[in-house]
Formats: sequence, C-alpha cells, structure tokens
Amino acid sequence: MSIVAIVGRPNVGKSTFFNRLIQRREAIVDAVSGVTRDRHYGKSDWNGKEFSLIDTGGYVKGSDDIFEAEIDKQVELAIDEADAIIFMVDVENGVTGMDEEVAQLLRRSKKPVFLAVNKVDSANRINDAVEFYSLGFETYYNLSSINGSGTGELLDDLIKVLPETTERDDSELPRFAVVGRPNAGKSSFINALIGKERYIVTDVAGTTRDSIDTRYNRFGFEFNLVDTAGIRKKSKVKEDLEFYSVMRSVRAIEHCDVVILVFDATRGFDGQVQNIFWLAQRNNKGIVILANKWDLVEKDNQSVKDFEKYIKKECEPFTDVPIVFMSVLTKQRIFKAIETAVEVYKNRSKKVKTSVLNDTMLPIIQITPPPQYKGKYVKIKFCTQLPTPFPSFAFFCNLPQYVKEPYKRFVENQLRKHFDFTGVPVTVFFRKK
Ligand code: GDP
Ligand code: GDP
Repeated sequence: MSIVAIVGRPNVGKSTFFNRLIQRREAIVDAVSGVTRDRHYGKSDWNGKEFSLIDTGGYVKGSDDIFEAEIDKQVELAIDEADAIIFMVDVENGVTGMDEEVAQLLRRSKKPVFLAVNKVDSANRINDAVEFYSLGFETYYNLSSINGSGTGELLDDLIKVLPETTERDDSELPRFAVVGRPNAGKSSFINALIGKERYIVTDVAGTTRDSIDTRYNRFGFEFNLVDTAGIRKKSKVKEDLEFYSVMRSVRAIEHCDVVILVFDATRGFDGQVQNIFWLAQRNNKGIVILANKWDLVEKDNQSVKDFEKYIKKECEPFTDVPIVFMSVLTKQRIFKAIETAVEVYKNRSKKVKTSVLNDTMLPIIQITPPPQYKGKYVKIKFCTQLPTPFPSFAFFCNLPQYVKEPYKRFVENQLRKHFDFTGVPVTVFFRKK
C-alpha cells in the first residue's frame, strides 16, 4: 500500500483535508491550533487506487510559533515514510517563513511533492494563490478542504506517481513481535530503537485490530514490528493485567516470524515468561530472548554464563536459542538484539538444497543409524526439506513407526549443527518410502 503524507505548518487545513479524504469525522478539527487529535492515519482511494494517508501534522505538536526542529521532524518523517507528499499552505496567510523552510526541505528530497494551496474557497482567491509560485515548485493545486473543490485535480496527478503494486512489500518484510510481561521494558525498547514519532507515524492497521505493525527501516534493517505494548500506552488504558498481555502476545505471536521475548532480568525467567516462550515454540516462530535491565543486575565475569545456563535449563529441550543481555536504559546491546532477530529470521527462512542435505545427513545416519527395534532395522534412504514457512524435514525410510523421540532429537541436533537454525524450532518427520 502506498503512503501519502500531508505536511505543512499548523492551521493550514491538513486535518480537514485528511478527514475529507478518509471520509471519517474522527479527527477533531478546531480553529485552535495544537488541539489534540486522535486520528492521523487512514485509508483512501481515488479512481480505484488505494493508498494510506498520514496527517503528519497531527504527530508533531506545536503552535504557530512552532520550533523549526518540530517542522523538520515532521517533514523528515514524511520524506522517509511516504511515497508522495502533499505540502499544504494557506492562501489566507500567504507565503510565510515557515512555508519557505518546509519547501526547502522538500525540494531537497527526491519524493514527489504536491503543493496544495488551501482555503481557495472562491474564485477571487485564485489570484491570491499565485504568490505560492515563489516556493519554487513547478506547479500548485488550488484547494478548498472545506468544500472539496480542487480535490480531483490534485488526486488525479497524485495517484499517477504512486507505485503500481497495490501490495507494498510490507508483507514480505520480516515481522518481529516484541512480547513479554508488563514492565519488562518492551515499549522502552521499541522507542529506543525507532524513536517515538516514527513509532507512531508508521503505524499501519494490521490484520488484527489489537496489534500495530510499525515499519522499521534504519541502519540497514527493514522489518515490521508487531507491537503489543504500544496500544496500551497509546490508548492510555491503564491495565497491568497479565491476562491482557497474554492475549495480546497470542495475537502478535501468531502474526509474526520472530518473537522478541523481553523479560526483566531482575525478576527472572519465570512461569509467565516461559508460557510466552512455549507459545512461540509451539507456533514454530523464531525466538530471541532479551534479558533486559541488565544494568540493574549485580555482575561478575560469570554472570552471563550462569544466567544463560539458568535460562536454557528452563527452555529444555529447545535450548538452541539466542539470549541477549540488554539494557534499554543504557542502550547496551539494543542493536545487537535486532541484529540477532534478523539472524533468526534468516535461519527460519533458510532452505537447504536437497543434494546438500542428503550429502550431509546420510553419512551421519550411516554411522549412527536408528537403534534396532524388535529386531528390525530402520533404513533411511533420502531426506528433503519441506516447503513450510518454518524449517521442517522429512526423512524417508522403511519403518518410520520404529523411529523414536531420542533419535529424532539426534537428527534435529545434527541439522542444527550443520546448518545453523539458531533460534528456530525445527521439525523432523519420518515417512514411509
Ligand atoms: P491543520 O492544523 O493544518 O491540521 O489545520 P485544520 O485542518 O485543523 O484547519 C485549521 C482551520 O482552518 C480550521 O478552522 C478549519 O476549519 C479551517 N479550514 C480548513 N480548510 C479550510 C478551507 O478549505 N477553507 C477555509 N475557509 N477554512 C478551512
Ligand atoms: P513494558 O510494559 O514492557 O512496555 O515496559 P516499559 O517499557 O514501560 O518499562 C517498564 C519500566 O522499566 C519503565 O519504568 C522503564 O523506564 C524501565 N526500564 C525499561 N528498560 C530498562 C532497563 O534496561 N533498565 C532499567 N533500569 N529500567 C528499565
């Protein structure tokens, strides 16, 4: 889905236009600038072409004497996130210094910009709009957000520059779910990574109503964060009920590729945390464990080792899981955490060529075959990776029913040893050939 952002200084009519386009009246439009609004993101379409619309102004607080930095931020966000930008100005006020400032930032970007001169409600204002040529754009669009005139001309041109694919690559991006108990530091973690504004602006209504996908694209990584913590904070619903966090975890986990399980190291890897861990494992999701608040833990040079041992004991038999000792507070290893999640994602989507798999596994099986069972020998002839979204392998043999759990585990461990499936549940089937 293409993203269109509306930028401009306060009070020019951005949210009025936004509301017109998303045809909802959820935003509170008020002549008083800086008024709290609750809806800045929505879907719209023109001539059958759908796009997401963001009123970036709603995310950056400020009045008419808004700081430069705030406007910069707004425009920066738009440039980063949007496929096209509507730059709105107000004919009643004429060109202001801030308009010039924004124009300069936008001209430097490579994004298509549509200059909309708003509040051109009547023909006699058309002449006044001419002065906006001075902002240095090739053309501009006369607009009246209040009565809708000019909307068609603007949108006709705007949809022409939007990418053809209706499905943005979002669905193909790795989806990471940040889950854990309340107060583990999930929101702090997300905010530390991506900053508050970005976190809010890029929220895309996910397939479920209770989670938010945040598109993250920085420092060479690109992925969606399936967030569970943000909603609670945003809606200001004060509930620390375990119940809610588990419910949300379930949804988020189901919709992700990799679970980033954050827990408070001062409180331990307790039963509730383990529940989430097993939920992820049962769903065949990749897992990274983040031991947060590491700054608060009294340490010596054995601490990491000891702690790791303690966690892995709780994770048995699925112990091939990366653990990152992190402090959001001191920003220690927060990027390491994401790097690790990316690694786990790669491991989960890894496809081992059948020839390589057989060349590796058959000699191992030859040396250590399944133990004979009731005097019968199991002969494994061939193996292949199955086309599932998570790693699963079929081993074809004469007597699959005689292969027991310990041997399956042996095979799984050999697969892990040779192909690196760190952080990912691996399923091994034995099938009749
Ligand atoms: P924002 O701060 O840029 O989002 O601006 P708003 O959408 O809140 O609009 C600011 C004020 O301008 C409100 O009082 C609107 O009613 C008014 N306004 C918005 N669009 C138009 C328009 O096309 N014509 C006129 N006359 N007023 C408008
Ligand atoms: P959430 O409920 O999982 O989203 O947790 P929050 O992000 O709201 O964090 C809960 C509390 O823990 C807040 O007071 C944070 O400031 C604090 N916190 C988060 N990370 C750390 C950390 O690494 N070290 C310390 N000392 N405090 C942290």
